[in-house]
Amino acid sequence: MLEKFSKKDKKNLFDAHFHYAVCKENGIDLPDFQDGITWSGISCAHSKAEFEIQSKAPQNVIQSYGMHPQNAANENIKESSDFLENLLEGKKISFIGEAGFDYFTSEFREAENQQEEIWNIQLDLALKYNIPLVVHCRKANHKLFEYSKKLSQLPEVLFHSFMGPPVEAQSLLNHGINAYFSFGKQVFNGNKKVIACVKELPFERILSETDAPFQFLKGEEYTDLNDITIILDEILRCREIL
Ligand SMILES: [Zn+2]
Repeated sequence: MLEKFSKKDKKNLFDAHFHYAVCKENGIDLPDFQDGITWSGISCAHSKAEFEIQSKAPQNVIQSYGMHPQNAANENIKESSDFLENLLEGKKISFIGEAGFDYFTSEFREAENQQEEIWNIQLDLALKYNIPLVVHCRKANHKLFEYSKKLSQLPEVLFHSFMGPPVEAQSLLNHGINAYFSFGKQVFNGNKKVIACVKELPFERILSETDAPFQFLKGEEYTDLNDITIILDEILRCREIL
């Protein structure tokens, strides 16, 4: 599924990661590109209410649902796992996620046991239903290597907003993981590890994302879905294609 979107074709735009329901709640519409330009994207919902909204999105919105590591402390694990498995049984989603680890703040880190519990539930369901996983990982790349064997058995793994360094991305690929790495507005922040990833990783493993409405730049109030064009341009510029 991700391979066909990895061409970074400006006529067929692809947003590897955004949040449809949160966009909608904030009045951010799906892009409406003209001149024969198509658009599609993967949207992640993290609650029943968000999925309810997301499930009504048009077909070019690829559906994902998951238990986010940042919500681990407050997650009703039983209820959300059952909901997730229902979606899988009903073939309502194409991806599980975001799932992963976030040790960025001490508050998140305190919930590391719950994070790992919901990660394992989602990873095992992804294996059971042979479905790709969207991974969110901050300050915890070592955890990905702990699970590399299971990850290598999945059809695809999308490491969204991957923070680098490229040697770790390459190592995930070398562990046999069918990995894709998506990058958003961090490409504008001069983040050395992110830029190095965009420059050095195999071109077909790199995808563009907005993470809309989140991950905005200083001075912005949100990220718009239309910003995928400037993000893609910057990725192509880094690769010296533009
Ligand atoms: Zn996100």
